[in-house]
Amino acid sequence: GGDFNQKIDYVFKVVLIGDSAVGKSQLLARFSRNQFSLDSKATIGVEFQTKTLVIDNKTVKAQIWDTAGQERYRAVTSAYYRGAVGAMLVYDMTKRQSFDNMARWLEELRGHADKNIVVMLIGNKCDLGNLRAVPREDAQEFAQRENLFFMETSALESTNVETAFLTILTEIYRIIS
Ligand code: GDP
Ligand code: MG
Repeated sequence: GGDFNQKIDYVFKVVLIGDSAVGKSQLLARFSRNQFSLDSKATIGVEFQTKTLVIDNKTVKAQIWDTAGQERYRAVTSAYYRGAVGAMLVYDMTKRQSFDNMARWLEELRGHADKNIVVMLIGNKCDLGNLRAVPREDAQEFAQRENLFFMETSALESTNVETAFLTILTEIYRIIS
C-alpha cells in the first residue's frame, strides 16, 4: 500500500530462484505483506509482488518475482530473468540437496542475467536449527568464492527477511545511482 500518487524514483526487479519448497513464496509473502502460511500451496498465478520503500531519500519500488512452480532445472524462462538487477538464491538449510543445487542455479542465472546483477545467497528455515543440514561455514565459503551476499533467514519467524531484502536493494541502489 501507500503507492497512491507517490513519485517513484526507481523500480528494481529482483528474482527469487532455488529448488521447490525452500520457502521462496513465503519469504516474498513475509516481505511484501508480512504474512506466512505453513501449508502454502504451489504458487498461484501471481508473477510478482511489489513493495515501495525509501532508500537514501529516494522512493524505490521493489518488484520481486517468484517462480510460479517452474523450479525444475532449465524450466525458468529467460523472460523471468530479463531486466533483473538483483537475485536471491534460496536454499533450505535443512535440505542439503537444495544447497548443492545452488551452483546450478547460479550458473543458470549467470547465463541469463546482466553481469552486474547483485546476488544474495539465502539459507532459509533457520528456525529449524536442530535439523540443520548445511553448516553456515559451507554457505559462507560458497558465497565468498562466488562473490555473493549471504544471510540465513526464517520466513516463519521473520528472522532477517527484511534485512535480507533491504541489503540487496541498498546494494542495487548503490550500484545504480
Ligand atoms: P517455494 O516452493 O520455494 O515457494 O516454498 P514455499 O514458500 O511454498 O514453502 C514451502 C514450505 O516450507 C511451506 O510448507 C512453508 O510453510 C514452509 N516454509 C517456508 N519458509 C519457512 C521457514 O522459514 N521456516 C519453516 N519452518 N517453514 C517454512
Ligand atoms: Mg513458491
